[in-house]
Amino acid sequence: MGTKRDDFKVSTINALRTRVASRCSNPDCRVPTTGPTTDNTKVNNIGTAAHITAASPGGPRYDESLTYEQRRSINNAIWLCTNCSKDIDNDPESYSVELLKQWKKSAENIAKKELGKPLPDDNYVVKSLTSALTGQSNTFLPKLVSNACQATSQALESLDPRFAVKTGYSKGINHVDIMAKQRVDAKLSISPKYRKEFYEKYTNLLDHGEKLSIDSEAIDMKGSPLIEELQKNTKGRFEFSPVHDKDATISIWLRSPDGELKYRFNDLIGVASLGKKSITIKGSGLKGIFHMTIRLSYKDFIPTDGKLNIYLDFENWNKKSLLQLPYVEKLHEFYNKINQGWQLNFSIEIEGLHITSGHSSDINLQEQFIQDFSHLNFTFMVREISKHLEVPILYDNSFEYTSEFNLKIREIFEILSKGITVSGRSIRENAKCTLEAFDDLSNIIEIKELEGRMTMIRIDQLEEEVISPFNQEIILPIFSHILTEVSPEINCDISEITPGDLVEIEWKPSETCRYKIEKLTAQPAAPQGPANSEVL
Ligand SMILES: [Zn+2]
Repeated sequence: MGTKRDDFKVSTINALRTRVASRCSNPDCRVPTTGPTTDNTKVNNIGTAAHITAASPGGPRYDESLTYEQRRSINNAIWLCTNCSKDIDNDPESYSVELLKQWKKSAENIAKKELGKPLPDDNYVVKSLTSALTGQSNTFLPKLVSNACQATSQALESLDPRFAVKTGYSKGINHVDIMAKQRVDAKLSISPKYRKEFYEKYTNLLDHGEKLSIDSEAIDMKGSPLIEELQKNTKGRFEFSPVHDKDATISIWLRSPDGELKYRFNDLIGVASLGKKSITIKGSGLKGIFHMTIRLSYKDFIPTDGKLNIYLDFENWNKKSLLQLPYVEKLHEFYNKINQGWQLNFSIEIEGLHITSGHSSDINLQEQFIQDFSHLNFTFMVREISKHLEVPILYDNSFEYTSEFNLKIREIFEILSKGITVSGRSIRENAKCTLEAFDDLSNIIEIKELEGRMTMIRIDQLEEEVISPFNQEIILPIFSHILTEVSPEINCDISEITPGDLVEIEWKPSETCRYKIEKLTAQPAAPQGPANSEVL
């Protein structure tokens, strides 16, 4: 091939851009990418034809199976603004080929729907929403969320100018932040059902700067038309945040049990909230999946007992393919090390000033850690199974499973990745199987002769098993169960056996017996080995 990079043709770029009406295809961005310059003959273009899989080896999402023509075809291109195109190349792990194809399809669908129709302008939206909030209209355009937020803020601020109001929408939840610009006297009453909870949380807020979050039903506030309006329309949670939040950064590293090895983890960005008795620092990283909170006393800046926690929020993984989950390997390694007794070390900066360093050794004993680690392991194992069997599985955070299912997944994971072997000692029961007697009873006689002697038996499953991790069915390969150093025993009088009888045979393990499960590769040999049976 002549060129190193498989760049797009001009005609491809033009078609790509106009198919999405020159807007960025990222559904969260959607900016127009072309417009006029001051020179009235020129065009200002802030868009680019980005490669879905990279133009040259080593680039983001590069797919070596594509031909030169496929790589530069319109099917491998997506129209993005320059910002978004940088984002997708800087973080290819979060922007999969599948995701980009989805973006492209939906951007083209929107352009198709909008074709020939006037767009409502921003003022129109703001006006209609403001009137909606004051009860004169019921027009609502949920798609234009940022405009909606602006309108809501305006309407709410007009109710009580003593407050600054900011509204936002993320992860399917509307937030309204209100901040008093001057002293506001309000009367707060707490419904009896919530009194204890509120009091505890309120003390935490004052003493330790911890955010107070409570069901909106718990609170009745009087003294501001704005707050009264909010209560009328709110079903959700009220949160009270400390005023003196400061930017904080937590650096984390682990130290091996012998103290010699060090493992650096990502820095966490967050806030420090100052209470009367202590400071609470919350940080998060890895796209909001990993969180850490520490409560420090003012006296020596040492974490108060049991007040250093780490936890995971799996929301970011939802509906993503297991093979493309961001940070799963990194987190798995990190949690594994803590589980093996590595010590968690941290260093905290508040507004750029180093405050303290310290460590915690009991993280792996916390219930939250055990829960998260177990789920991380489960996800990791299902991911390996999905890799081995080449079946794509989507992460589903609504999926619940029993500990038996977790064990099952571990077993399958171990068979597929290394082949399980269990030593004689842990085999507690004899394996049993049934054998259909041949016409001349030769198979039964053969086994009878083996009684008291050590032999090996292999039992193949007759049909594949189906399991449904994350609510998606996968068909497992057929497994063979192999026992070595076992001795057969027929528990009935052999003289009473007639051809065609089903005869139960027990296999007694010796001290050195080994039990192995493996993926069936070759066809089973003719029934020297007995047919299907339950083992162990
Ligand atoms: Zn964009």
